[in-house]
Amino acid sequence: MSQPIKIGIVGVGKIVHDQHLPALAKDQDYRLIAAASRHGKVEDIPNFTDIEAMLDAVPELEAVSLCMPPQFRYDAARTALMAKKHVFLEKPPGATVSEVEDLKTLAAQNGVSLFASWHSRYAPAVEAARAFLDTTKIKSAAINWKEDVRRWHPNQEWIWAPGGFGVFDPGINALSIATHILPAMFITSAVLDFPENRASPVAARVAFRTSNGLPVTMDLDWLQTGPQSWDILAETDKGAMVLSGGGSKLAIDGKVVHDEPEAEYPMLYKRFAEIVRAGTSDVDLAPLQHVADAFMLGKRNVVEAFFD
Ligand code: NAP
Repeated sequence: MSQPIKIGIVGVGKIVHDQHLPALAKDQDYRLIAAASRHGKVEDIPNFTDIEAMLDAVPELEAVSLCMPPQFRYDAARTALMAKKHVFLEKPPGATVSEVEDLKTLAAQNGVSLFASWHSRYAPAVEAARAFLDTTKIKSAAINWKEDVRRWHPNQEWIWAPGGFGVFDPGINALSIATHILPAMFITSAVLDFPENRASPVAARVAFRTSNGLPVTMDLDWLQTGPQSWDILAETDKGAMVLSGGGSKLAIDGKVVHDEPEAEYPMLYKRFAEIVRAGTSDVDLAPLQHVADAFMLGKRNVVEAFFD
């Protein structure tokens, strides 16, 4: 087996504690040797307050995972790529499409790998849904992604700020699955609901079409209490497909055909090691482009103020 990849983590917050640290702790392909964050700390390894100090003090680092909010990721990514470190970007990979294009160029120029991770794409039933749809004629599809922002994102101010994406922060997870399992599509209309005291939307209704005219709708809502919905539905000539639970469960005509526990972050790190060892990058911008298009084409609808 190859030597473990010496990795550092930057932006130590919720997702690092929930997912990155547990995934890395079990993965023989990596050795986590440093972290950088203004306040957050990882136990038992050297911690620094910024990426520059970490890279200076720990030159043996080969890769970094950048887990801060998207608005603050580009500079850290640029610094790491220029220092010839492989870079794992949390989703969404940046605040704009063009800054991530720039990172792709920098990765190629510096001979290192760039990974735009889309964790929901690695949900357990996604490949089965894709395989099913590949054998069918799709008539229409609908994405329903409705969750309670107060439950999942308490006190996260960045998510409501420009570049935080609002309800498209979870919505881009749906798009990362949809762009993997459905035919290529583009937005034809969108309505985005902005709370009067916030810079990002709390709900959105988006219509897409595929090049051969199939309708796809997306309904995003951040105020859903009670049961949460993370579902993609498709009407096909071989029955109705429901991919639910954020990609974890697949049913065809009401019969569950795939239901497994999730292992999204272990799979993401497996893929990152694969591309590092193959000397390639994996940067699919389709989900981010759709979000940009929704903001570009969408009608802005002002709704009542949102308070945590
Ligand atoms: P978070 O806890 O609010 O932020 C992560 C860390 O980033 C913070 O603890 C903070 O650490 C650092 N940070 C915050 N503002 C910063 C700034 N202005 N400049 C530099 N660093 C800053 O957010 P999160 O939930 O972990 O989400 C981070 C990313 O992961 C987002 O892109 C999100 O979409 C993605 N993600 C989140 C989840 C989830 O369930 N939360 C799931 C999947 C993916 P310091 O104060 O120590 O610098």
